[in-house]
Amino acid sequence: MRHTNEMEIRFESRSENEGFARVAVASFMTQLNPTVEEVADVKTAVSEAVTNAIIHGYENEIHKVSIRCTIFENVFTVEVCDKGKGIENVQEAMQPMYTTKPEQDRSGMGFAFMEAFMDSVEVESEPGKGTRVKMKKTVGKGREIWTTRSL
Ligand code: ATP
Ligand code: MG
Repeated sequence: MRHTNEMEIRFESRSENEGFARVAVASFMTQLNPTVEEVADVKTAVSEAVTNAIIHGYENEIHKVSIRCTIFENVFTVEVCDKGKGIENVQEAMQPMYTTKPEQDRSGMGFAFMEAFMDSVEVESEPGKGTRVKMKKTVGKGREIWTTRSL
């Protein structure tokens, strides 16, 4: 049987929920038996995406952020969605060091971190409608041989 699973959470765009989101995703991920490093990578990526939804998507107004996680065999997918202001030019926004809030000491590295720590990052966004950041990571890369041998 193939291992599949799914969960969704929805919470208010308050900065105190950023830690909650990170831990909730990490906790769901543990069934894949990840390394400490793999968990840390996913936590960092989720944290960046949720922070973006809060400060850029909703510009600190309180609305809902949702996260959907799916597991298909050893592929972990996490989607972070907001119904906020959206992004005009996604390609430009994803460039390292591009930020629309330099006055708030933002360094424009959020998407660069997501791309560095996850295997893929896809962003769908529409101005006035919101943003969906879909990230994937294969957990246990290079450890498959171990599993088959130990069976
Ligand atoms: P840092 O993440 O380093 O604090 P940053 O948030 O500006 O800085 P990125 O996370 O790379 O940098 O995002 C780049 C830009 O993309 C942001 O400045 C913002 O304009 C836009 N952006 C990112 N996420 C969203 C979102 N959910 N809604 C609207 N705009 C977004
Ligand atoms: Mg950011």
